[in-house]
Amino acid sequence: MIAELDDEQLKLSQVVRDFADSVVAPAAYRYDTERRLPLEIIAQMGELGLFGLPFPRDIGGQGKDYVSLCLAVEALARVDQSIAVTLEAGVGLGIVPIYRHGSREQQERWLPDLLAGRALAAFGLTEAQAGSDAGGTRTTARLDGDEWVIDGSKQFITNSGTPITSLVTITAVTGESTRPDGSVRKELSSIIVPSGTPGFEVGPAYDKVGWHTSDTHPLTLTGVRVPAENLLGERGRGYANFLRALDEGRIAFAALATGAAQGCLEEALRYAKERVVFGRAIGENQHVAFTLARMQARVHTARLAWYDAAQRLVHGKPFKAEASIAKLVGGEAAMANARDASQIFGGYGFLNENPVARHYRDSKILEVGEGTTEVQLMIIARSLGLDA
Ligand SMILES: Cc1cc2nc3c(=O)[nH]c(=O)nc-3n(C[C@H](O)[C@H](O)[C@H](O)COP(=O)(O)OP(=O)(O)OC[C@H]3O[C@@H](n4cnc5c(N)ncnc54)[C@H](O)[C@@H]3O)c2cc1C
Repeated sequence: MIAELDDEQLKLSQVVRDFADSVVAPAAYRYDTERRLPLEIIAQMGELGLFGLPFPRDIGGQGKDYVSLCLAVEALARVDQSIAVTLEAGVGLGIVPIYRHGSREQQERWLPDLLAGRALAAFGLTEAQAGSDAGGTRTTARLDGDEWVIDGSKQFITNSGTPITSLVTITAVTGESTRPDGSVRKELSSIIVPSGTPGFEVGPAYDKVGWHTSDTHPLTLTGVRVPAENLLGERGRGYANFLRALDEGRIAFAALATGAAQGCLEEALRYAKERVVFGRAIGENQHVAFTLARMQARVHTARLAWYDAAQRLVHGKPFKAEASIAKLVGGEAAMANARDASQIFGGYGFLNENPVARHYRDSKILEVGEGTTEVQLMIIARSLGLDA
């Protein structure tokens, strides 16, 4: 495979890179310290059309493809993973399920503001007993006349508590069916819960190791009533639909990790050329040079992996295992590059104001979010015909 980008994609990548360098990077440390999502930056990303990138123009999108979205996410993550994940989750978990499974009414109501970046949407799957094993969902929704009544709680939901969050799509058990072998299977469905619905509470933001600027909350739903037509997609297809969204989302997540690995490389390379110790630039020591060479090799491998998975997706080819490979390789590349970059910076790599230190804290979640490393290994092993 030769990974080629067309002129439009190259231009988009450069535009987002310039935006990241001129607008996002200078403010990244301040927002990280204040632990708040900068809505003014999200608004500018909306004006650049980033939230509408992979959607058709006739619904308010930019008419580009999934590769373009990933390029934008990668370019942002070079300087700020939190801003990049706000876009990645906003599109992949927030908009895509509504675009793909929403009724015409749902799309007309929610998509215009989401595609323009004036609003954010979230997806709440994870619960205390349902993370890697999402089938462990305990949140329930029962039909009472023409309303769903929802009870339960969700954990770690990205973009769920910002002032511009318009909705959270949650998964809930809406019934159960008995299989031919007598075992009982939960029926999981997706339901749109608009922000501010009585009984729907957004808990305090988590005190996270990294991604300080990204918005993450626990949610509780107590007797929450929403109209029956808030069901998203077919009843009982919530889990399957979410898995499909996750498969796609992993590619953008891998692009995010690649951007982080690239950001670490760029910072460390610059510093290795500048920093003089024992009378010469530290990059002239073979060990440091080899470390940087390995970092470059990781970035290159991670980028090829997500390009391949994204190209498969846009060309309608199977991409599940390739998306998991990209996520696995990308997360590991980001973690390793963050560690190596911090080492090259010596004591200065341990200061929070140093972007490399932020990448060091931020990158850990790249091995956990949207499916842990072990979950990716399970998917890859299954593609080899193994019962993992
Ligand atoms: C910052 C952040 C943002 C998030 N955003 C969202 C969001 O927007 N929406 C959402 O729904 N969720 C979100 N999540 C949740 C995230 O997807 C889960 O944390 C993740 O899927 C892991 O689930 P868990 O934390 O319950 O870990 P567990 O599933 O409890 O796993 C614990 C450990 O056991 C390992 N493990 C489990 N089973 C096996 C097995 N069979 N074999 C080998 N190892 C195994 C796991 O890999 C992991 O290392 C977010 C999490 C964080 C921290």
